[in-house]
Amino acid sequence: MSATENIDPKILEKMEKFAENYAKKCGLVVNPNREAAEAVIKGLAAHVQELGKPLCPCNFYPDKKEEVKLRRWICPCDEMQMFKYCHCLLFTTPEGLPVTEYLPPWHEGRQIYGEVKDPAPDKCRALARFDKILEYLKEYVKEHGLDIPEEELIKWAEKIAKKK
Ligand code: SF4
Repeated sequence: MSATENIDPKILEKMEKFAENYAKKCGLVVNPNREAAEAVIKGLAAHVQELGKPLCPCNFYPDKKEEVKLRRWICPCDEMQMFKYCHCLLFTTPEGLPVTEYLPPWHEGRQIYGEVKDPAPDKCRALARFDKILEYLKEYVKEHGLDIPEEELIKWAEKIAKKK
């Protein structure tokens, strides 16, 4: 039996509300493809039940408990809070696409979906600080074995950091 078949309905309901509220707060929507949205919401709820936190269900983790301690993939994850990019496709534009305009052109999100503009640029991205973004980009190029000069990472981080 899969972990998502025994979810406490109260947790599921809580995660559904969270998704609706967070999408609204950010000027996005919960993916209009209900099936896709429900699969992610169930995955988040299963992690709340198992780990006490809504760990993103769209990644593989060698050790989920250790991952929870790092906090970077607790929904809304760091990518969402920096780039407004939800690779699970839970938070999307009304067309069902993830926002990608803050991702650098060599990021997989940009490569898959092209440039998708943020319909509400004044909302969310609470972690879009220069230092946080630069740290993320450095880690990303390292993990993906990309040969991108550091000046380019700095330029991109400066470009998309939220101005105070
Ligand atoms: S990608 Fe981020 S925002 Fe989207 S469901 Fe996963 S944790 Fe949440």
